[in-house]
Amino acid sequence: MTHIPGIVITGASGRMGQMLIKTVTDSDQARLVGVVERAGHDWIGQDVGTAMGGQPLGVTVTDDPLEAFAQAQAVIDFTAPEATLEFAALAAQARCVHVIGTTGMTDEQIAALEPASRHAVIVRAGNMSLGVNLLVQLTKKVAAALDEDFDIEVIEGHHHHKVDAPSGTALMLGEAAAEGRGVNLADVADRGRDGITGARKRGDIGFHAIRGGDIVGEHDVLFAAPGERIVLRHLATDRAIFARGALKAAIWGQGKDPGQYDMVDVLGL
Ligand code: NAD
Repeated sequence: MTHIPGIVITGASGRMGQMLIKTVTDSDQARLVGVVERAGHDWIGQDVGTAMGGQPLGVTVTDDPLEAFAQAQAVIDFTAPEATLEFAALAAQARCVHVIGTTGMTDEQIAALEPASRHAVIVRAGNMSLGVNLLVQLTKKVAAALDEDFDIEVIEGHHHHKVDAPSGTALMLGEAAAEGRGVNLADVADRGRDGITGARKRGDIGFHAIRGGDIVGEHDVLFAAPGERIVLRHLATDRAIFARGALKAAIWGQGKDPGQYDMVDVLGL
């Protein structure tokens, strides 16, 4: 085994899966050793490079995650919550670092990652980009500096295929704002107003989701007071930022103690 970690990508045919395969194969700090898709998918048994419409990469798409994970030091997983829970148990069994980009997990599903994190490193973040993780830190600071005269609203936009709302990133930003204010997000979150909602409650943190076209990911954190507004904004125009962050996390996790980490740990913010 070389010191260059072998990586498995799950959800190989997905928007992020394909971007991750490209990022890992372009990198000289990691090797692509396996790719996983769900059972019954057209790509199973094909060379992944050919399936993606390019040159063969010498890696065959499999629907057997454990077999793939056994060859690897890290699994990068941007799939769906149920699949991610299954992969967490198998990655822990294979002692692989499990980088989780999947969003839309319930609190119960997040809690169910705990047994796996006793045996292996899990790095999970609703957004793997450097810019958004900086925005999270800024949001916490601004929220801590301002009082409840400033109404906080998180507004996000994504492409029309996205299945969960608010986005994982919007929730990270809402959590950061709540933490800055010293409150529990669950107590103050106001998600997607519609109808006769009554006036805005002081101290609430609002969430709004735009879905359309091919928007990669846009997030505004609005602090609005009588007479002035502050807007913190991140615009993602290329999915490569998430893939680069995920690969960085997979490499960072090598040799770390078992447990759950996030991108703030990886980026040292
Ligand atoms: P997508 O629908 O294009 O891809 C998901 C892929 O997962 C598909 O190829 C699907 O076949 C595969 N999959 C589902 N169940 C599987 C299973 N049991 N075994 C193997 N493969 C399985 O979606 P996407 O746009 O690539 O996004 C995937 C996830 O990543 C979403 O939750 C999205 O919100 C999240 N995401 C996170 C970040 C981040 O930085 N954390 C960035 C972008 C997207």
